[in-house]
Amino acid sequence: MEQLNKNTTRRTATGKPSWLKIKLASTPQYPVVRNIVEKHCLHTICSSGKCPNIGECWSMGTATFMILGDICTRSCKFCATATGKPLPPDPEEPQKVAHSVQLMQLKHCVITSVDRDDLPDKGAAHWATTIRAIRAVNPNTIIEVLIPDFDALPELLDIVIAARPDIIGHNLETVERITPSVRSRASYLKSLEVLRYISAHTIGKTGIMVGLGETPEEVNKVMEDARKAGVRLFTIGQYLQPTAQHIAVSEYIHPDQFEHYKTTGQQLGFDNIESGPLVRSSYMAEKTFLDAKLTKKCNSPTGDL
Ligand code: SF4
Repeated sequence: MEQLNKNTTRRTATGKPSWLKIKLASTPQYPVVRNIVEKHCLHTICSSGKCPNIGECWSMGTATFMILGDICTRSCKFCATATGKPLPPDPEEPQKVAHSVQLMQLKHCVITSVDRDDLPDKGAAHWATTIRAIRAVNPNTIIEVLIPDFDALPELLDIVIAARPDIIGHNLETVERITPSVRSRASYLKSLEVLRYISAHTIGKTGIMVGLGETPEEVNKVMEDARKAGVRLFTIGQYLQPTAQHIAVSEYIHPDQFEHYKTTGQQLGFDNIESGPLVRSSYMAEKTFLDAKLTKKCNSPTGDL
């Protein structure tokens, strides 16, 4: 049963609305991607995060690799990735990821990781090794990384920046008021600090989920804060509860409201903003980047674009 709130064009979360219908796998590419991932014992946020777009993305031959294992040291209430004591990083993982990017012939790859608060450098060196390995094997591939907050320590962020990925993303995840109740250890202001720091060096990207009880005014404020921090790419998507143990959806946001957010983001001056019910930070990442280039030339820190 869905109830439309006429004033806000939002629906209360009493049933999944029709616009959240998931596209199923339909091309021969899907098993190809699955086989590459399995053969190299890699992890993807697509499956670990129970992403609703997995059929569509893998069918298009793309996936988001998750490095540093599949066990996270944090326990955010929206995230399907397992929490616990992770294994030591796999020293062969950077090469495996680089080789998989090559096999998948990706022009644009997206890499993310679990949080590794157990490691002295929180995984920063492994991140840098992975970026350099991908670059060595795939010199023309755009490398987009979606990093943890590294506790906003500049010396750790510098290690990742020095490896010269083309885009560095770090997600704010939700509005400031809701952050303490859904994110573990992270804080809104710390994440803004991370975004300010990375955006001074490269193309900064961030994203949020909506449907957690935020107001449109609060979403607009997040966009303003991100722009002030220098962020150039922004994504907004509907939060979906991955399991019954995770925080419940507060409301299903109507596609019209996503369009309003997109317009606001454009007015604020983002190079590109993707806003829609099934948008995820890595969804159509290549298109997000190319569209941004169409409206304003992005300066790649690698100089090879
Ligand atoms: S949107 Fe991102 S996480 Fe989801 S399936 Fe696509 S690439 Fe994977």
